[in-house]
Amino acid sequence: MSTDRLLEFDDVVARYEPVFGLETHVELGTASKMFCGCATTFGAEPNTHTCPVCLALPGALPVANAAAIEATIRIGLALGCRIATWCRFARKNYFYPDIPKGFQTSQYDEPLCTAGHLDVEVDGETYRVEIERVHLEEDTGKNLHVGGATGRIHGADHSLVDFNRAGIPLVEIVTRPVPGVGAKAPEVARAYVAELREILLALGVSEVRMEQGNLRCDVNTSLAPTGSLEWGTRTETKNVNSLRSVERSVRYEMRRQAALLDDGVRIMQETRHFHEDTGSTSAGRSKEEATDYRYFPEPDLVPMAPDADWVAQLQSDLPELPAARRTRLREEWGIADSEMAWLVNAGALGLVTDTVAAGADPADARKWWLGELSRRAKDDGVELADLAVTPAQVAELCGLVAAGTVNDQLARQVLDGVLAGEGSPQQVVESRGLAVMGESDELGAAVDAAIAGAPDVVEKVRGGKTAALGALVGAVMKETRGKADAATVRRMLEERVLGG
Ligand code: ZN
Ligand code: MN
Repeated sequence: MSTDRLLEFDDVVARYEPVFGLETHVELGTASKMFCGCATTFGAEPNTHTCPVCLALPGALPVANAAAIEATIRIGLALGCRIATWCRFARKNYFYPDIPKGFQTSQYDEPLCTAGHLDVEVDGETYRVEIERVHLEEDTGKNLHVGGATGRIHGADHSLVDFNRAGIPLVEIVTRPVPGVGAKAPEVARAYVAELREILLALGVSEVRMEQGNLRCDVNTSLAPTGSLEWGTRTETKNVNSLRSVERSVRYEMRRQAALLDDGVRIMQETRHFHEDTGSTSAGRSKEEATDYRYFPEPDLVPMAPDADWVAQLQSDLPELPAARRTRLREEWGIADSEMAWLVNAGALGLVTDTVAAGADPADARKWWLGELSRRAKDDGVELADLAVTPAQVAELCGLVAAGTVNDQLARQVLDGVLAGEGSPQQVVESRGLAVMGESDELGAAVDAAIAGAPDVVEKVRGGKTAALGALVGAVMKETRGKADAATVRRMLEERVLGG
């Protein structure tokens, strides 16, 4: 448990200015690794996706993965970066058990992409995050610490190394420091990672499954007294792997650092670990400088010199990016910024888009995904996208409602069946007998029964109190278990009670 003293967030932002910056590592979804032909599939038996190159056996030589270079350039272009006409890989030297070579092949002073930006929106305001660089490197293997309570090395009996991940292409996206956002710093940091994730998905370069570590953030945070001309010393919270944690880690560091600064304590430049359970950070190692890594150009790989025509082609082949897509859909659907933000935050935008593409009216599609389905996802503690219903099925359901086959109440029962795996909406309507009752003999009998069962109400209605008719409608709806159409029932009652 953390013993850090924390200042209240409101007090922090009243007296201090935060600056944050993010280094985001993204595992590319290429079929093979960065410098060898090994597969990149997640979850394989340990050390089955290895070869002399990614195990760094003597004499093995790397060859760069063209698909990874292309993906990196596309990411750079989507972020408005300049693409280098010539650049090299570099060796970043350090010992770690999950780095078989004793160095990481990365890029140093010659990154593939530089000087871009990403605009993000928080509470209707746009914030520009400048991108310093996007470079290409390789992932490390994975240490597994066995026998301890925490899974960390402290307290473990022994450690194992799995090199399946070693050499998977990794793109590192580094922002410039972001000053001047004050109290919004935690949310802007989160929104940046969320938007970046959307872009990576739109480009199709990574599955970006944060829970599988496809995207990991190092979150830099510093504080300086408001009005100060200099920035404070920053800490770097490593490997934060959910959007919520990005926001929490900035908030926590702001509160922790402010309490120290209030006490006149200097902030140490260091890396910190983030703890998911408490939302706190704890000290890691004191931060090394770039010079400590003794970077030098990688002698085993040829330089990268992307052809200008090729880069221009990649630029013109970029898909519609999320911001442009949102603007277009907002106009097509005629909805406000705030509703679009709601769709995005609920993780419903893609689902609604697909539902509309399958033939549903946009307003109906939004209503189902943001209403009933969001409620069910929340009840079950799952993501909207993980519900056992497809956009095509929701579109079919919308169609059944529009055609009058089912009403909203019955449609919810149809959903029950679809979610329970009973088939398509149409199949559930048939198997569960959920279609709205037409003006049938069966419905006529229910109407007559309601009239016969409440002579006092009938008397009131005939005496001019037409509002009392509602009680009879309710009785019929109850009798037919919601399968009747209320408007039809009301009309039939009026005909029979008032003589039409
Ligand atoms: Zn390999
Ligand atoms: Mn890196």
